[in-house]
Amino acid sequence: MSETAIAPEGGLQRLGVMLFGAVLALSAITLAHAALPRPEARPEPEATFTPPPPARVFVAFQSPLPNHMINSPFGLRQMPWETHGRLHAGVDIAAPFGEPVLAAADGVVSRAGLWPGYGRMVEITHAGGLVTRYAHLGAVVPGLRRGHRLKAGTPLGEVGSTGVSSGPHLHFEIRDRDDRPLNPLYFLGRRFAQADDLPLDAAAQVSPRVRMAQVSNIPESKRSLMAARGLIETGD
Ligand SMILES: [Zn+2]
Repeated sequence: MSETAIAPEGGLQRLGVMLFGAVLALSAITLAHAALPRPEARPEPEATFTPPPPARVFVAFQSPLPNHMINSPFGLRQMPWETHGRLHAGVDIAAPFGEPVLAAADGVVSRAGLWPGYGRMVEITHAGGLVTRYAHLGAVVPGLRRGHRLKAGTPLGEVGSTGVSSGPHLHFEIRDRDDRPLNPLYFLGRRFAQADDLPLDAAAQVSPRVRMAQVSNIPESKRSLMAARGLIETGD
C-alpha cells in the first residue's frame, strides 16, 4: 500500500483521539463547575464572622516622657524662695538634657516658642478644648509651628532647663477649655470614649496641703531674692 492510502485512516484516528480528549476536558470542567458552591448553598448571614466595631476614642493620653517618673506632683507647693504655697499647675518629670518629649495626645499645636516662666514651650490643643503644655524645653523640633497637627507620641522637642527651672526636667500641664489647670494623673495612660467621660471637676480639685519643694539648684534669678530674705548666704 502506498502512503497516500493510509493517510485518511491515520487522520481519522487522530481526529478520534482529539475528540476523546475534548470530551474528557469538557467533563473535567463540568465536574469542577459542579463542585463550586451554589449561591443558595452559602451560609446564613448570622453564621458569618462579623468583626466588632472599633472602640470609640474621643481622646487618649500617653506619657510625654515614657520611662521617666513624675518627681513633683500637681498641687500647692512652696519653693524655697517663696513665702507661701502656690499652685504647681502641672507635674514635673525629671529626665536628662536632650531626651525627646512626645505629644501626649492627638492635637494641633497652639503655641511654640518662648513664654515667661515656662521658657521654651509647646502647647497643643486636643479634643474637647483640652490643652497640654510642655515647658522648660531645651529645643523645639525644627519647623514646628502653630497650626501643625500632631499624633500622640510624635516628638515635639527635647528636655532642657529654660525659663524658671532648677535643672533638666519637663513641666507638663493639662488645662481645660476654661484654662483651669487639671491634675495630669487623671489623664495620663487613660482613654476617653466621649467628652462627658472627661474627669474635669475631679482633676481640677486642689488639696489644701502645701508641699515644701526640695530644690537642688536654686535658679540664678531667685538667688538674690533669697539672699535679701536671709535664706541663703552669698559670696559678696
Ligand atoms: Zn513644674
